[in-house]
Amino acid sequence: MRRKLAAGNWKMNGTPASLDEVAALAAAQPAPACEVLICPPATLIAAMARLAGRGPVMVGGQDCHAAAQGAHTGDIAATMLRDAGASHVILGHSERRADHGEDDATVRAKTRAAHAAGLVAIVCVGETEADRDAGRTLAVVGAQLLGSLPEDATAADTVIAYEPVWAIGAGRTPTLAQIGEVHDFLRAELTARFADGAGFRLLYGGSVKPANAAEIFAVANVDGALVGGASLKAQDFGPIVAAL
Ligand code: PGA
Repeated sequence: MRRKLAAGNWKMNGTPASLDEVAALAAAQPAPACEVLICPPATLIAAMARLAGRGPVMVGGQDCHAAAQGAHTGDIAATMLRDAGASHVILGHSERRADHGEDDATVRAKTRAAHAAGLVAIVCVGETEADRDAGRTLAVVGAQLLGSLPEDATAADTVIAYEPVWAIGAGRTPTLAQIGEVHDFLRAELTARFADGAGFRLLYGGSVKPANAAEIFAVANVDGALVGGASLKAQDFGPIVAAL
């Protein structure tokens, strides 16, 4: 049985006052049926981890460097995220791939570093609108998947997030059939490549909100969501958690 996961990606949003949302979420969902994770900006990880304590909300980073330490101004090592109280880290988000030129090899190296630090890596894949229009969706996400995962990744230390670039922050989502097609394909690729491929969680991400969460979660091989905008407020994220 794959345990469902509702993961929030706050991106470059949030102030210390935003921690109240985590408290409100924990109060609204004291015993969620799924795992609940919030990935705030790095500056809030330690405070959020202290606040979340032994409650139902886990805390994650949004990126880490592939190196363990050293002369990398502005970067954060996976071990530092762990020390701050993170249990997970998002890697290879399309905004990192676009804004910072991260390719699959970079994401794979970062995933290795995350695993070495004992973090669960949430590895993101997804096609652009041009890819989809050209009929390249499965080829693109398949190449990203295999290129971004280390050979020794396991279902215990790695989660995959399928996030079509054109659906992120866009207010539009693929059809349920399109989501299902990609998730079934990713499942088949993982099963062919990894002994425990059937156990990897596959999250859908891109404009998930309370109004569409339940129907997306009902799609086969959708094991949860990676949620951006709708994870910032407990009143939005709470119903998404409750739908899993
Ligand atoms: P969104 O972002 O939910 O705001 O579309 C999702 C993501 O980028 O992880």
